[in-house]
Amino acid sequence: MFDHPDYDAHEKVLMVEDTASGLKAIIAVHSTALGAAAGGCRLWAYDSGVSALGDALRLSRGMSYKNAMANLPMGGGKAVILGPVPNEKREAVLEAFGRAVDSLDGQYITAEDVGVSVADMKIVARTTGYVSGLDAAVGKSGGDPSPFTARGVRVGIEAAVKARFGRSDLAGLKIAVQGLGHVGSYLCEELFNLGAKLVVADIHTDRVEEICDRFGAERVSVDDILLQPVDVVAPCALGGTISEDVAQRLHATIVAGAANNQLLTPQAGVILGQRGILYAPDYVINAGGIIMVAGEISGHNDEAHILGQVDAIGPRLADIFAKAKSTNVITNVVADSMARDKIAAAKKARGKMSEAA
Ligand code: NAD
Repeated sequence: MFDHPDYDAHEKVLMVEDTASGLKAIIAVHSTALGAAAGGCRLWAYDSGVSALGDALRLSRGMSYKNAMANLPMGGGKAVILGPVPNEKREAVLEAFGRAVDSLDGQYITAEDVGVSVADMKIVARTTGYVSGLDAAVGKSGGDPSPFTARGVRVGIEAAVKARFGRSDLAGLKIAVQGLGHVGSYLCEELFNLGAKLVVADIHTDRVEEICDRFGAERVSVDDILLQPVDVVAPCALGGTISEDVAQRLHATIVAGAANNQLLTPQAGVILGQRGILYAPDYVINAGGIIMVAGEISGHNDEAHILGQVDAIGPRLADIFAKAKSTNVITNVVADSMARDKIAAAKKARGKMSEAA
């Protein structure tokens, strides 16, 4: 693992196998410098254990950067459960996963991610208290973080449109949304309400039909969605969909969506930059969900307060876009270095505190 290309001095990586339930999972704690490592749990049928490990390592580092950039008092972690999990085993697997989370004594706090629902998290909560993303009381945020993620992506798209086209509204702009799951469908609603014209694709045709019916969206094939002649492409499916080839052939002016790790390689980001395509760093624009989860964990989950924090994603991205322009450095590299500086400063402060003690 130490030689894995995605290993980045992670503080801890827990490999879990529970033979009774069949659970196989990896929990990666990238950094606790800013606080307990928070990040969702993904359930996915990986090709191999090595690709699951790569996902856990990459996603947990992404969470450190995401939480740091959102100014949250939380470090970065992520869990992956290796699927598929048969329905009759699901409950036992989730309970075993909760026990694994609990064994880390609060260094890692879990939540939903792809393939895991609020109902699943309630099962995880039977065996650990280190869980978030549960149902909320009225007037409080909590439960499914996707609407908050979608709102953050929408304000991020607005910031990118302002930076690139100098306009503050989305009316009439064409936006391609790849993936119409939890976040993608809420995002379509937000964009439709602001007058954007939607082009959509999903591997689930029923989701495509629903979005086309509700929002008058145009459907295209999953192979063509990223290459549409649109103003904005919003990747909201899985990560890694912006390959070097896609970056070379994209027609949009802006790439801004919810998916984690959108760039398949660093070079894909370089190509976007060279072609003058504005890329909104994924972990900055998709922080709405974790901002909500942080409110739930801290108890400061008054909905208006959380929405204010989510809306701050817009000015934060505007700052990154401005820095990228003035330094001639691509946006994702600017964001990475800002995030690393924040984490390093927290580590230094922590070192000073323990020296003083
Ligand atoms: P989801 O599983 O609900 O939705 C993903 C959708 O993408 C599904 O409808 C799926 O059918 C579709 N899809 C898969 N492959 C596709 C392809 N090749 N082309 C088109 N569609 C495809 O997941 P989600 O919660 O909506 O999350 C979407 C992305 O955003 C993920 O990368 C996730 O990590 C990221 N994200 C989600 C949140 C959140 O709050 N849910 C927060 C931050 C980041």
